[in-house]
Amino acid sequence: MISVKNLTKSYGIQSALDNVSIDFYPGEITAIMGPNGSGKSTLLKTILGLVIPTSGDVLYDNVAVTGKFLYRKNLGYMPQVPSFPPALKVKEVLKLINELRNDYSPDETMAEYFGINQFIDKRISELSGGMKQRVSAAIAFMYSPKVIILDEPGAGLDPLSSHVLSMKIQEERQKKKTVILTSHSLKEVSELADRIIYLSEGKITFDKPFNEMNMELLFNYFKSDEAVGNEVL
Ligand code: ADP
Ligand code: MG
Repeated sequence: MISVKNLTKSYGIQSALDNVSIDFYPGEITAIMGPNGSGKSTLLKTILGLVIPTSGDVLYDNVAVTGKFLYRKNLGYMPQVPSFPPALKVKEVLKLINELRNDYSPDETMAEYFGINQFIDKRISELSGGMKQRVSAAIAFMYSPKVIILDEPGAGLDPLSSHVLSMKIQEERQKKKTVILTSHSLKEVSELADRIIYLSEGKITFDKPFNEMNMELLFNYFKSDEAVGNEVL
């Protein structure tokens, strides 16, 4: 199980995360929602060890892992914006990742699943944003991680790829994996989320099972975000 406890991350005087505590469970898809700048990506990056918290802890199986890295073998990550070396071909990126994760054999079917074999010989610099997202998705699932962390996975994907990704995420839930994703799409969270956590200015506004969610309330949150000029939906 993965948890965060009293997590705070400050950048100067601004808090990107303010005393956030969450337990994430196997077999559950948790959607983190909230306006731009509310701390969603910072939360995910802190869990991944890419951001070091100002205070508080990330726990993996009840052990604090701040500054450690072995637990990361159990994590798969799809960043909000994929960044691969632009001069490399897709197949070279896959080889590179494979060498980095040398103690795990990749699930080769993922390249086919996300339809990346058709452009495997192209360079990253030649790919569209959506194509890069698909490479990124394939890599996130390729090493059978126990915890799958997806930062706005639906953004920039064409409808078919988005559907394929949803199927994959649901399959992982079936396999009792822990899935944590961020989303601005009510459609996506209605399809996938077992639980919704709403962040606002680095604080949890609510944390509820999806079936207890008042959709009108959620929609109103979205509208109020829009009213203050954030890009939502
Ligand atoms: P979200 O993913 O919800 O849009 P982020 O977690 O990316 O929000 O950002 C939360 C806040 O932290 C924002 O105000 C952002 O400007 C700030 N922030 C994020 N990363 C950094 C950084 N590396 N340096 C300074 N401020 C940052
Ligand atoms: Mg973000």
